[in-house]
Amino acid sequence: MGKTTEQIHRNMAAVKSKNTRPEIIIRHYLWTHGFRYRLNVSRLPGHPDIVLKKYRTCIFVNGCFWHGHEGCDHFTIPKTNTAFWLAKITANKERDKEEQRQLAKMGWHCITVWECELKPKVRDKTLESLAFTINHIYLQDHSIHYRIPENEFDIAAEPDKR
Ligand SMILES: [Zn+2]
Repeated sequence: MGKTTEQIHRNMAAVKSKNTRPEIIIRHYLWTHGFRYRLNVSRLPGHPDIVLKKYRTCIFVNGCFWHGHEGCDHFTIPKTNTAFWLAKITANKERDKEEQRQLAKMGWHCITVWECELKPKVRDKTLESLAFTINHIYLQDHSIHYRIPENEFDIAAEPDKR
């Protein structure tokens, strides 16, 4: 079944606003588990939703429709204006990929969390594996690099300077 126009508008509204609920769920989890982060770091490609400097990791919290989560129930191309939506979402996906490629080149790790992975039934598992992944990244990086500069540890979650 295709999405109604109203559903599409709602999806788009959710995507455009900052502090969307899935993002807050992740932030809350990270904060209570001792991970410190910054939000919407505008000088990095793609303005990542959550940036963990100490872990050199960017987290993107993606809406399944807008970012085209493949194989996901929440991603159905509407039956009307199909070509338009297909082009739009394909372009979004290309952009996501390019941004993450640039971040990787700059030495950042990227983690994408999909909205559907934060539904109540699967949320705990998603968050646990997110924490596991972040810690794993840290250990791997630090088995290669000796240390990161002191100033990489500065206060988290304050507005981006600049
Ligand atoms: Zn999904």
